[in-house]
Amino acid sequence: STIGLPPIKETPSNLNDKIRVCVRKRPLSTKEKEKSEKDIVPVSGIRTLSVMEPKVKVDMTKYIEESRFTFDEVFSEHADNTEVYERTAKPLVGYIFGGGNATCFAYGQTGSGKTYTMMDVQNGLYIQAAHDIFDLLYQPENRHLEAVVTFYEIYLTNLFDLLNNRKKLFAREDANQNVCIQGVREVIVQSPDDFMKIFEFGNNCRSTGSTGANADSSRSHAILQVALKDTSQRKHVVHGKLSFIDLAGNERGADRGDKADKQTMMEGAEINKSLLALKECIRALDMNKKHQPFRQSKLTQVLKDSFVGNSRACMVATISPNTTNSDNTLNTLRYADRVK
Ligand code: ADP
Ligand code: MG
Repeated sequence: STIGLPPIKETPSNLNDKIRVCVRKRPLSTKEKEKSEKDIVPVSGIRTLSVMEPKVKVDMTKYIEESRFTFDEVFSEHADNTEVYERTAKPLVGYIFGGGNATCFAYGQTGSGKTYTMMDVQNGLYIQAAHDIFDLLYQPENRHLEAVVTFYEIYLTNLFDLLNNRKKLFAREDANQNVCIQGVREVIVQSPDDFMKIFEFGNNCRSTGSTGANADSSRSHAILQVALKDTSQRKHVVHGKLSFIDLAGNERGADRGDKADKQTMMEGAEINKSLLALKECIRALDMNKKHQPFRQSKLTQVLKDSFVGNSRACMVATISPNTTNSDNTLNTLRYADRVK
């Protein structure tokens, strides 16, 4: 049972902020319920939640330590993907038609709901966005624009094209310091259905590792992008771009059972590095900083054009509700707290 907190009154956050940081808590799973696990993450407002950790003092008296956090949005276990979409990715769709770049990240431990949020086949944020994108593309004033999809994965420092049989790709910087991914397969999509088929094709190519936490967990970042290209120009320039990023799990080595071999350690170190660089790059979006740490990781390097000029970022930090995951939950919330 959830430890009840008095509800608090809060003003809604601005959907058009340059950086938005949201948290989504998933419900207890059937397995967790069977083990009588407790939900220790009460959501007490539209922007606030707490982690209630049972602790024991040296004299053996028990107490509960409450850590409270406030974000732009907090989605409880009752929120569905439709509601999450409305207040995260949806505002970004209009924004890219206005000529900007926008990125939506799912950040959190393996099993906390990143893929369910971002890339669920039925109703993930990406497919809901696709419906809105095509509604706008079908408008006469957007006849000169077309939607071009790329889908690739970053594992360690390597890029793999999910739309081209995991072909190894290389990111290059041109003379103007624009980063491009050479030879990445770009697919023009004509409808949400088309988009969904392309996504499913690529998704079947995703690499899966196995950890103690979840047999299907991924140690890679998946990057699904839809660029609006202007076909009225000789060279079809990118008018705006929306990226959906299902980040690698942020859990630490200790959660990964006793299979902490060299490969696993390398994966963990690289993931950690990229997530730290990501935080710095998102923070820098707001500060007009000249030197951003793009080059500190492959992830931030390939996303460079999403961190400069007209860019927006929305992070959905996903968390598990149960006691066993409390350390990871607190780590995720502390990271998210420092992004903005
Ligand atoms: P991750 O990608 O972070 O490893 P998943 O998205 O695969 O986690 O979610 C783990 C499990 O929890 C899946 O079975 C998924 O369907 C379920 N799940 C995650 N979030 C929710 C949610 N908000 N509501 C219902 N089920 C969820
Ligand atoms: Mg996943």
